[in-house]
Amino acid sequence: MTVTIADVKNSVRNIPDFPKEGIQFKDVSTAFKEKKIFKFIVSEIKSHYEDLGITKVVGIESRGFILGSTLAGELHAGFVPVRKPGKLPAETFAQSYDLEYGSDSLEIHTDSLDKEDVVLIHDDLLATGGTINAAVNLVRKFGVTKIYVNFFVELDFLKGRERIDKNVPVWSLIHY
Ligand code: AMP
Repeated sequence: MTVTIADVKNSVRNIPDFPKEGIQFKDVSTAFKEKKIFKFIVSEIKSHYEDLGITKVVGIESRGFILGSTLAGELHAGFVPVRKPGKLPAETFAQSYDLEYGSDSLEIHTDSLDKEDVVLIHDDLLATGGTINAAVNLVRKFGVTKIYVNFFVELDFLKGRERIDKNVPVWSLIHY
């Protein structure tokens, strides 16, 4: 069986009203559990970034760790976690961001990147763009200038892409 982008889209499960009413939750675990689909996803994203000299992949907790760490291996890059507050044990930079109700924060170790790094930030899904904006701001704190952003899934109707810094190339494998 040759895997297509349509197969990948069909393998993502939609869960209505999770974790709260009105949210159409995209469950990527049903795509990742299929070995041919998982391999296709990794190889498609890898081929998009392999000639860019990526030195570090930054993955966002927690679903961004799954493909993020695999991509780091494939791209011969290091992996750096961005985590929720209080999870990283050493000195961190923090960046808060607004949610629908209230705010949240993300953290990164202060010794995890250098300004010469070429960074690919990966998360599983782009919705409103609040999370990725915070992650881009964290990476900028190191003086990094070469930043790319990748998602497995992008929810086009939420227009999260419009909130991301225009100097940062954004690419997603599948769109709904
Ligand atoms: P946002 O900051 O609104 O772009 O939300 C992106 C983050 O929230 C990602 O880390 C996603 O894992 C998660 N997320 C937001 N909306 C959904 C959704 N409909 N399905 C699955 N994950 C979502």
